[in-house]
Amino acid sequence: MKIIVQKFGGSSLSTQEKRLQAANKVIAAKKDGYAIVVVVSAMGRTGDPYATDTLINLVKNINRDINPRELDLLLNCGEIISAVVFCQVISNLGYEAIVLTGAQAGIITDNSFTEARILKVNPEKVFKNLKDNKIVIVAGFQGITHDGELTTLGRGGSDTTAAALGVALDAQFVEIFTDVDGIKTADPRIVKDAKTLDVVTYNEICHLAHQGAKVIHPRAVEIAMQKNIPLRVRSTFNDAPGTLVTNHSDMQNSVEISSDRLITGIAHVPRITQLKIPTKNYKDIKGLELKIFRSMALSNISIDFINVHPDQVIFTVRDDDAEKAEQIINNLGLEVEVLPGCAKVSAVGANMAGVPGVMAKIVEALTEENIQILQTADSHTTIWCLVKKEDMEKAVIALHRKFNLS
Ligand code: ADP
Ligand code: MG
Repeated sequence: MKIIVQKFGGSSLSTQEKRLQAANKVIAAKKDGYAIVVVVSAMGRTGDPYATDTLINLVKNINRDINPRELDLLLNCGEIISAVVFCQVISNLGYEAIVLTGAQAGIITDNSFTEARILKVNPEKVFKNLKDNKIVIVAGFQGITHDGELTTLGRGGSDTTAAALGVALDAQFVEIFTDVDGIKTADPRIVKDAKTLDVVTYNEICHLAHQGAKVIHPRAVEIAMQKNIPLRVRSTFNDAPGTLVTNHSDMQNSVEISSDRLITGIAHVPRITQLKIPTKNYKDIKGLELKIFRSMALSNISIDFINVHPDQVIFTVRDDDAEKAEQIINNLGLEVEVLPGCAKVSAVGANMAGVPGVMAKIVEALTEENIQILQTADSHTTIWCLVKKEDMEKAVIALHRKFNLS
């Protein structure tokens, strides 16, 4: 039995017309002789009746601090509704299908409600239904803990469901169907002429996704990489081949050799707050940084862009966490300078390590556009710049142009 997993994002399922296009992809693969597992997200985006954000607003308008456990119960409904609706589309076209919730599909997670991690997959039920020649439609983005609690996997989590099932079922490949032609050199909403990448390594895309390219969830890439299951990101609405994500050696056989590519793409993350803590006048300076970082971790605030200097500590948090972070720092008896409304723009390329002049080129591109650089950081694969949010799009476009990515 040759199995493939096909995942459809919310934007591919928002109308009956789009669902039909999605169903045609499923049936085409079925006709090619594959056993098919379909993973669906909730239908549509903010404002659509059964979209994840709509469900969140439904309860957050009543209680902003809803218990994450109850929120996850509600959010599980979005994908279940979507799966049942999609199943009817498939049935109407004359094919036998069955819907499974994440739990029924054997997706076991830890108990971090709203951001759960998949611990393992028990694929027996999926297998059995595939053997019975059914198309198995799984509600994405959700799972169940060992003690029976329903969880969700965080934004973009259906990608992760698809990759995890791909690995558990030893699928031939996993297809991520979405509203763009593949993984591009930047978000096409910002860079209109961003190029679709033909073939990329797991590694490159993992970095790009971690830096905000939300076309695929980084965890999905990490999971697929464990067993070398190829991923293909492509459009629901045309027949373009999209982007193949694979490992380095498979890639050498293909047209584009990855080592030729210095920068894979430009990614961005909006809604970031910079925090600057002057530490000069603080008496108990020893271990102070540790104290700050530890208290952030204890409150589940993830911090980024960390620069530790002898007289100040700088880092960033998501805008949503800024108020809480400020309070924590004040509680430690420290002053903090808060700069909200920032954005992180990154140039990502697995091959930039050791290549001189990349940072210079980035600074040049941004200063040419009069963009103020608030902070920078770099690693072997990524150079990050913090800019004001109003400069974000201009910065992405400038970097994309500087590295000739179009
Ligand atoms: P889905 O509902 O299919 O999961 P998402 O909204 O999660 O769709 O992801 C697709 C979107 O990702 C695209 O519409 C595009 O605007 C955005 N995006 C961001 N960065 C990139 C990139 N580098 N390549 C392609 N799309 C990107
Ligand atoms: Mg997505």
